[in-house]
Amino acid sequence: MSTFQNALEQLKRAAKIINPDADLLAVLNQPRRTIEAAIPVRMDDGSLRIFHGYRVQYNNARGPYKGGIRFHPNVDMDEVKALAFWMTIKCAVVDIPFGGGKGGVAVDPKLLTAHELERLSRGYVQAFYEVIGPTLDVPAPDVNTNPQIMGWMSDEFIRVTCNMKHVTQDEKEKLKATFTGKSVEQGGSEGRGEATGYGGFVVLEALLHNSTHPPLKLRGGEEGLPTVAVQGFGNVGFYVAKFLHDAGYRVVAVSDSQGAIYDKRQLGMDPDSIMKTKKAKGAIGGCYCVGSVCDCENYTAISNEELLELPVDILIPAALEGVINQNNASKIKAKVILEMANGPTTPEAESVILGRGGVIVPDVLANGGGVATSYFEWFQNMHNEKWSRERVLQELKAKMEKSFTAVWDSSARHSTDLRTAAYSVALEKIAEAATYSAE
Ligand code: GLU
Repeated sequence: MSTFQNALEQLKRAAKIINPDADLLAVLNQPRRTIEAAIPVRMDDGSLRIFHGYRVQYNNARGPYKGGIRFHPNVDMDEVKALAFWMTIKCAVVDIPFGGGKGGVAVDPKLLTAHELERLSRGYVQAFYEVIGPTLDVPAPDVNTNPQIMGWMSDEFIRVTCNMKHVTQDEKEKLKATFTGKSVEQGGSEGRGEATGYGGFVVLEALLHNSTHPPLKLRGGEEGLPTVAVQGFGNVGFYVAKFLHDAGYRVVAVSDSQGAIYDKRQLGMDPDSIMKTKKAKGAIGGCYCVGSVCDCENYTAISNEELLELPVDILIPAALEGVINQNNASKIKAKVILEMANGPTTPEAESVILGRGGVIVPDVLANGGGVATSYFEWFQNMHNEKWSRERVLQELKAKMEKSFTAVWDSSARHSTDLRTAAYSVALEKIAEAATYSAE
């Protein structure tokens, strides 16, 4: 099944249990709008290359379309549709006034120079500027995109808009709200960088220490502290590992696209020092590490596949979709899977894991801290406010705890798994907001 088919299968499974409004289901079975564009980019050697860009505007019943832009060689329309669908559900689960969208470019950005990367980022905006804006569609970072890229995009969007019509200073300020995940210098929010990881940490803590249910029995490593494996050591994987490590969890394995490392003694690794080693070899394109977690020599090198099957309490997929699938589901030993990537578990794998008593904290809840903080950034830009990091993380914590409780209560009410429960929470909210043309 394709990624989008997997996403719709999740919706179908949830619908069987929660019985949502039939009209809403029909609407959510496909995106409202899909846009494809050719993006010409002048390369440093003078040649011209055409890249394929996508933007999917899935649903805007609750507010402007919202979702990141991914730079990855495997990006295609099917994937972007799935990711935009998940954004629709996610924004409703974390209860922010946005709908769902997503974008992407089929490119391996690590093969570009910094100048080429900038031209591609600006080229994306030139291709899509007519369909984005603070009250229309609000992009953000995703896999392989970052504050620097958002800065170029935001700058390009403001430039193009101001070229076309007269814009007052106040309107210009608000145009900054078109992109979230910008650097603080370019109007981004304090705390946005660590927000997705922090949100995942808060949700996991809420699950493990929730007084309304008997505590989950974890095996625990050295001294009985919970053990964690993190697949993917980008922004999200790094920060979730860091918050867990700082709170006393044992992070015993991490990986990136080049491979994985495992602390066989289960004593735990320090994510900061791993990141330092990974960064030591410098960067390509100005922002992608040449090095890898595999450069840390005091640990055992294993493969990404082996990492997923380690005997740990908590497994955190924090990279791409479909990594937990029918081929490895029966070999996965973690009690809890915290989905920090979007769509890491296929529906077939989910059945196997739930069947053996595993708990899956779904992506639409676990990684919702990123977009929740994007909303805080959008709000600050629209109202000319600047919040402190402390305030951002405090508001984020409250939001994630509230979202967890809503999902948890829904799972108790429907006697169902957390993904179905999250879909139930989301569909109810989207249904409340949806109006169809005949009404
Ligand atoms: N790309 C992130 C996600 O998948 C963040 C999206 C956003 O902030 O709009 O949730």
